[in-house]
Amino acid sequence: MADYDYDVLVIGAGPGGYVAAIRAAQLGMKVACAEGRETLGGTCLNVGCIPSKALLHGSELFEEAHDGTLAKFGVKTGKVELDLPTLQGEKVGAVKELTQGIEFLFRKNKVDWLKGYAKFTGPHAVDITGKTVTAKHIVIATGSSVTPLPGVEVDNDAGIIVDSTGALALARVPQHLVVIGGGVIGLELGSVWRRLGAKVTVVEFLDQLLPGMDGEVRKEAGKIFKKQGMELRLSTKVTGASVKGKKATLTLEPAAGGAADTLEADCVLVAIGRRPLTDGLNLNAIGLVPNARGQIETDHDFRTAVDDVWAVGDVVPGPMLAHKAADDGLAVAENIAGLTGIVNHDVIPGVVYTTPEIAGVGLTEEAAKERGEIKIGKFPMLANSRAKTNREPDGFVKIIADAKTDRVLGVWAIATVAGTMIAEAALALEFGATSEDIAYTCHAHPTHSEAIKEAAMAVRGKPIHM
Ligand code: FAD
Ligand code: NAD
Repeated sequence: MADYDYDVLVIGAGPGGYVAAIRAAQLGMKVACAEGRETLGGTCLNVGCIPSKALLHGSELFEEAHDGTLAKFGVKTGKVELDLPTLQGEKVGAVKELTQGIEFLFRKNKVDWLKGYAKFTGPHAVDITGKTVTAKHIVIATGSSVTPLPGVEVDNDAGIIVDSTGALALARVPQHLVVIGGGVIGLELGSVWRRLGAKVTVVEFLDQLLPGMDGEVRKEAGKIFKKQGMELRLSTKVTGASVKGKKATLTLEPAAGGAADTLEADCVLVAIGRRPLTDGLNLNAIGLVPNARGQIETDHDFRTAVDDVWAVGDVVPGPMLAHKAADDGLAVAENIAGLTGIVNHDVIPGVVYTTPEIAGVGLTEEAAKERGEIKIGKFPMLANSRAKTNREPDGFVKIIADAKTDRVLGVWAIATVAGTMIAEAALALEFGATSEDIAYTCHAHPTHSEAIKEAAMAVRGKPIHM
């Protein structure tokens, strides 16, 4: 057998790549991970999940102090002021701690961090800053980057038209933030800046927010964000933008075509999706051709069309989520080691970390109906004792079950802690639970999760508190 520098070389140290590298090392292989960024952790830890959640948490505390939520519970705060540099500092601190945590884990597991961008020179070899590194197996985990919108040029340094990375680092609260794209990023980062004082307008091409989620959930989410003060311009597309001084002017049109309109803003966030990142990998050298969407196709085991080259995370088809990338990473390492690494792509929970949170796992009502007859159980958070006590009336839990077998096909929740609640639903789906199984599982009282039990009871028509 040829002699290689490493058993496994992972390209990219995001949640897909760093997990694959650590797991491969744990399984006894000699592993390196190439990463061109200054710090490990990829999009998620540096400019994604982690910094956005730091700002979501801080801005929620600010809003609670500012809008009378704390006062309602007898917490007197005096004059509430925003110290944005301190909030941004906390965010930077969290990112630093977590990215350094991955460095620690690499050292602990003896994964070599090869600093620099890797490009293929052959199926078992890459060039990293002029040096050739060889490996028996190579895992592509290069993630994704922002999808650009033609005619709307992002300049994060100027801070007027920004992408998610720019919107995480604004040095001031915009007066009017226009978000292009009513998806996950637009709603999370739109919520951050609305809570901190900006007027926020969301321009969405489709007739509802959050494509891919359950229709009823999307409709309810729209109502809630409107109630919170966001202006929603649905079924509308942005056709261009110009910047003059510190203001941007956007040209809008109805999605179906029609008279153009303009909208002024001092900040515009472009959040119309992300696309797989394979730039600079020199895939030509190994004859690997991405599909029409730029993704690297793999089989169920994460093998690409080229022997010993594997791919995981945002760069392959499937939801672009950190936990999905990490599960791919675990599985690919196990498959390379000759074990059986499996990811059940039918059970990947998705969470929007707004207030309330919006979460789902499994099929939407629309998709489930296409497959056959279903039963639905719903329970409003208004009737959940913990949500009621906390004065968190918005949202519901919805359980979709097969009408014949009662097997749970999908669970959707809008609730302040829906992101935590959905873990139970994922487990239920993974284990093939019926709605009756959930209904007869004892849930602690008083918890928001009791709404899942009650929704399960509602599938059979018998919730207690409604
Ligand atoms: P990435 O995290 O993108 O990592 C890929 C890494 O590869 C990068 O560090 C890149 O520098 C490196 N790289 C690329 N090319 C090369 C090369 N040639 N050589 C060496 N290195 C290379 N997901 C969630 O599940 N929950 C969330 O709350 C969430 N919030 C998000 C918020 C924002 C603002 C954004 C933008 C994304 C968010 N996501 C969230 C999505 C999540 O960040 C991604 O799904 C996840 O990071 C994908 O992991 P990955 O390992 O596939 O790729
Ligand atoms: P998205 O796909 O969630 O939403 C993009 C939205 O933009 C869609 O609603 C789409 O209809 C709309 N759109 C597209 N073109 C448009 C146009 N020209 N004008 C107006 N609207 C337009 O994408 P995103 O919000 O950019 O997020 C990117 C990825 O990052 C997602 O895949 C998501 O999974 C991931 N992410 C996840 C989380 C989380 O899990 N909490 C948070 C942030 C990002």
